Amino acid sequence: MKAPATLQEAIIYFADADNCLRTFAAERWPDGVTCPTCGSKEVKFIATRRLWECKHKHTRKQFSVKIGTIFEDSPLGLEKWLPAVWIITSAKNGVSSCELARTLGITQKSAWFMLHRIRLAMQSGSLMKLGGKGGAEIEADETFIGGKARNMHLSVRQRRITGTGTKDKVAVMGILERGGEVRTVVVQSRRKPVLQAEVRKHVEAGSALYTDFLLSYEGLASDYAHKVVDHAVEYVNGRVHTNGLENFWSLLKRGIAGTYVSVEPFHLFRYLDEQTFRYNNRKNMSDADRFRAAISQVMGKRLTYAEVTGKVGETVN
Ligand SMILES: [Zn+2]
Repeated sequence: MKAPATLQEAIIYFADADNCLRTFAAERWPDGVTCPTCGSKEVKFIATRRLWECKHKHTRKQFSVKIGTIFEDSPLGLEKWLPAVWIITSAKNGVSSCELARTLGITQKSAWFMLHRIRLAMQSGSLMKLGGKGGAEIEADETFIGGKARNMHLSVRQRRITGTGTKDKVAVMGILERGGEVRTVVVQSRRKPVLQAEVRKHVEAGSALYTDFLLSYEGLASDYAHKVVDHAVEYVNGRVHTNGLENFWSLLKRGIAGTYVSVEPFHLFRYLDEQTFRYNNRKNMSDADRFRAAISQVMGKRLTYAEVTGKVGETVN
């Protein structure tokens, strides 16, 4: 059976545990199965248990394909995980945990936890700065997300709608290279040191930089060809605008409002990672390509239930 190209084919293909094992082992060990403890390739496959055993003398000789990935410690098999990765990377506006639970036949709590782990895999690990090439144009902008009372449970609403009304809003900064990638980051404030540190961290000096007329961006002209558009006056001034990011913000907010009942500020960065991955992998890529891009990033990452929820001692099945 050939590798799947559509969601329907993926569901059928990954229902078979051997297909899952073959696909995932080939992705994570492209040069052959390697012992995670000693790095040796002298390993023997135990077909009945779908495990490998290292021939060298050390503890933890036996290992599964899930070791050292976001799937480790999960009681769910790859027959659930691989379709889940396919579903979330191919869905245009994201997928709710209820929907994923129904599709895979698992509990909503399990699906919720899966989604968070998959978002961790979708997190961009790129250390390359944007821009730098001749003619590179970068937009930087901020927005606020959250704080929608209608999306909250009544008890949460009653607890929260007492103060200033903005404490549930989270400031998010976006930096976008036209024709290239977007980066997003939750920021503590829109003050100058915070925003400028992000610009310098993500943008190569010398690039053209377009922002709105916010004092926090003042002073970047020494390192960038910085031009501002005063949103009180106009939104576009020739090439000087932040419409690329405006489009990204509307995609992000539509995704959050349409798919998720509510997003706790604590979890917002994970939704950002998800939407950023989707945006950065939108062009010239098939669903199968996006699936493989996410799968290539599941290694070397761990996320425990306590880390996601902040609750120690609670587990999920
Ligand atoms: Zn070994």
